[in-house]
Amino acid sequence: MKIGFIGLGNMGGPMAANLAAAGHEVTGFDVAGTGAEGVRVAQSAEDAARAAEVVITMLPNGEILREVAATIHPVMKAGAVHLDCSTVDVASARHVAEAATAAGLRALDAPVSGGVGGATGGTLTFMVGGDASAFETATPLFEIMGQKAVHCGAAGNGQAAKICNNMILGATMIATCEAFALADKLGLERQAMFDVVSTASGYSWSMNAYCPAPGIGPKSPADNGYQPGFAADLMLKDLRLSQQAAEEVDADTPMGRAALELYSQFVEQEDGAGRDFSAMLPRFEKRGRS
Ligand code: NAD
Repeated sequence: MKIGFIGLGNMGGPMAANLAAAGHEVTGFDVAGTGAEGVRVAQSAEDAARAAEVVITMLPNGEILREVAATIHPVMKAGAVHLDCSTVDVASARHVAEAATAAGLRALDAPVSGGVGGATGGTLTFMVGGDASAFETATPLFEIMGQKAVHCGAAGNGQAAKICNNMILGATMIATCEAFALADKLGLERQAMFDVVSTASGYSWSMNAYCPAPGIGPKSPADNGYQPGFAADLMLKDLRLSQQAAEEVDADTPMGRAALELYSQFVEQEDGAGRDFSAMLPRFEKRGRS
């Protein structure tokens, strides 16, 4: 397949390289001038998009996605698929999908989970919104870049699934970390805490698969000095997107709002920037109630 790939950053670079390694003809573009192995570098986004059957975008935010979409849609082939894998606000995803349809194209929003490790290893999970025929066209590409793609319904629903999942994840990680810090102060050994909670009703992915306490449970960023992993900054981005969406549709999300406030304090006023999102545990360890 002829593929255009716009945004060859930490995630897009290895995703594009995996598509090229699987035998697809990939033409990429990034404003920073970056390339990726096996990918022909174009001089502009239009040049990367013009001949492609599928154009993938992997960009920082909704504003940039809207700009890039407005540039590439007029030059894309009729019926081609614009597959956006960035994490952006639901409103931008729906706007770009409408613009694509108006230009005679097909669109999918397909944000990922799995991080840079998943992008490099081709083990991402895609949460996909958009029409079924486009999903079918993109399925062989999802199979190369990832291990799972879930079709979540209409345009924007991929982003909706991603931010709802990450709102649960942020709140659950905070709850797990504050409970460990309380257990410490109550004199409960962390290993005993893990052994109980991981097999009791407080279990979660945060506790069982990504335990924030060093030396406890499976290997996680806590065992590596809280190097990300999944950076607290990216969790903050996703929590902002979920609150933005909640405001737009008048949904009451008090736990999501509390998680946003804590991660924004952690990243912007404390030492959370650049650390894994599970570094909430040492943050709570240092604190008392006030
Ligand atoms: P990144 O900053 O490394 O890459 C984004 C790239 O887009 C950069 O190389 C930048 O130069 C390029 N870019 C910006 N404006 C452009 C334009 N107008 N035209 C062409 N290229 C442009 O970010 P990343 O870590 O690769 O993340 C990309 C997306 O994936 C984000 O939406 C992020 O939220 C999401 N995501 C990231 C992770 C992760 O662990 N890094 C995990 C899941 C989802």
